Amino acid sequence: MPSVQLNTDVALGVAIPSSNARGRIARLGPVVDSILASHAYPAAIERLLAEALTLTALLGSLLKEPQGQLTLQAQTEGGIVDLMVCDYLGGELRGYVRHDGERLAEASAEPTLEELFGDGYLAITFDQPVAKERYQGIVPLEGKNLGEAAQSYFAQSEQIPSLVRLAAEKHGGQWQAGGLLLQHLPEGEEGRERLHTRLDHPDWPHVAILGGSVKAEELTDPKLALDDLIWRLFHDEDELRTLPAIRLSRGCRCDPDYVRSVIARFPVDEREAMVGDDGVIRVDCAFCSSSFTIEPNELS
Ligand SMILES: [Zn+2]
Repeated sequence: MPSVQLNTDVALGVAIPSSNARGRIARLGPVVDSILASHAYPAAIERLLAEALTLTALLGSLLKEPQGQLTLQAQTEGGIVDLMVCDYLGGELRGYVRHDGERLAEASAEPTLEELFGDGYLAITFDQPVAKERYQGIVPLEGKNLGEAAQSYFAQSEQIPSLVRLAAEKHGGQWQAGGLLLQHLPEGEEGRERLHTRLDHPDWPHVAILGGSVKAEELTDPKLALDDLIWRLFHDEDELRTLPAIRLSRGCRCDPDYVRSVIARFPVDEREAMVGDDGVIRVDCAFCSSSFTIEPNELS
């Protein structure tokens, strides 16, 4: 057994070799609260970001390289949300949502995916610097929820039969979010070259039914360890393996020196236009809400 506690702020890899399936299961608790603490979002946006961070953790933990980065970005037109960005690097997560608070206040208490995103697109970027692999897939934000939109990402963009379930609930004032991702691997083992793809493989519906039976309250229950939940779902399979757990934490990579170097590249007249009434340039990090102050004379 891994020494990491498998209850919260953790992602766990799952393999069901006898059914040619693999997956990830994740639960996020304090990490979500600490990311949300940098923002002051209404409950519906908090729930959306909690689910999006869970999806980001599921996808990010698929990366083979420890320094691989996964970015999930929703770009929308005509919805309550006009931009949502989350990313993952080495178990560190961050994210933010730009939205129209007035329109949200007029919407239903639990806005649909369409109300939130309008004509939106979900872009998912896998970036593995050592192998110099960068891959981006884009799909329309369609379906009942973010999980369904992610499922169509795999079907359309990667042609892999997949199941994605996401849930987020507040327990005693604290968020608990959980997610399950299962994929059919046409040629068996993880990491092997994919030779052909069949969306109708006989093993898959069986795995999808078992995985699909997971309940939102199981995904979000911090007392239920993830390996116990996986066992509950798949104990009848001939072979069931878990991979080493990945601990999830909040992490922002904003860096005052980097911000300064970006600002320094602007032409002098544009830099002068950025200076506020107090004589300094202020730059806010959208992810963690940190505010940087730059003296204009530092730049020349
Ligand atoms: Zn930051």
